[in-house]
Amino acid sequence: MAFPTQRPRRLRQNENWRRMVRETALSVDDLIVPLFVVPGEGVSNPVPSMPGVSQLSVDEVVKEAAEIQGLGIPAVILFGVPHDEDKDPEGTEAYNPEGLVPSSIRAIESEVPDLLLWADVCMCEYTSHGHCGLLTEDGEVENDTTLDLLAQAALTYAEAGADAVAPSDMMDGRVWAIRETLDQQGFLDTPIVSYAAKYASAFYGPFRDAANSAPAFGDRKAYQMDPPNVEEALREVELDIEEGADIVMVKPAMAYLDVIRRVKDTFGLPTAAYQVSGEYALIKAASEKGWVDEQRVAMESLLGIKRAGADMILTYFGKDVARWLG
Ligand SMILES: [Zn+2]
Repeated sequence: MAFPTQRPRRLRQNENWRRMVRETALSVDDLIVPLFVVPGEGVSNPVPSMPGVSQLSVDEVVKEAAEIQGLGIPAVILFGVPHDEDKDPEGTEAYNPEGLVPSSIRAIESEVPDLLLWADVCMCEYTSHGHCGLLTEDGEVENDTTLDLLAQAALTYAEAGADAVAPSDMMDGRVWAIRETLDQQGFLDTPIVSYAAKYASAFYGPFRDAANSAPAFGDRKAYQMDPPNVEEALREVELDIEEGADIVMVKPAMAYLDVIRRVKDTFGLPTAAYQVSGEYALIKAASEKGWVDEQRVAMESLLGIKRAGADMILTYFGKDVARWLG
């Protein structure tokens, strides 16, 4: 009989023992910070549902990028948030070379050249209807015509100097369309970070404040994944890898830890997870009320995502984590 010969508590009795047998570590190397870029100069608009997160104009986003790099974080991901009057049904601003994301990329690149700049690729921040692609007359999001626009947007960001493009739209075939266009234009070395398993989640609520991207009608359930499914997530990831994805992402993270684990175990590719706005807001709100310890709950959540198999995590806690890790 094992007891009392085996007493697992022996290796937990003090911090040095715990350090020596710790299986998972969260590091600053694992972090990617999302940034929201708005028009103007000297603009820093706090997002009410995401305390600590602000929409920033290009000049301010450069300062933020410098601070992030100063904390040792390797990468940021950029989202453009144009004014409503600059949106149209075709999402033209998504592939305007003078748009918010390309302008930010050039500005950051010249001031903070070593930071990796990922550019989110989707139409919903730029379309007047707020959907992730072109609409048919019946209001359906049309897959194949949207691919050209996504490829055009990705190319625009690569030309501006993006270190990676990250399609988040969930159209079928978009990784292939983007890879083909990038390769034809000589951007062979620009990686694609694919939001491969992106679920139609209620956890995105605060992001839509931040990115002003709520659909004007309907929802995104006809293109984003149905939350109960994991086998389908594996098919989505497999297709994106076949089409040329370099990094695959699961989004959201906390409610999909099993998906992260299955994706990592099945494919072994560098796997990212997005701790989304709702996950962040829950922790922030409960800690503001004094109901949980923000730092401990945030770190435990991120550690859980890492333990589930994520190699890297997109998180609004990025700067805090870098400081907490010291
Ligand atoms: Zn979208």
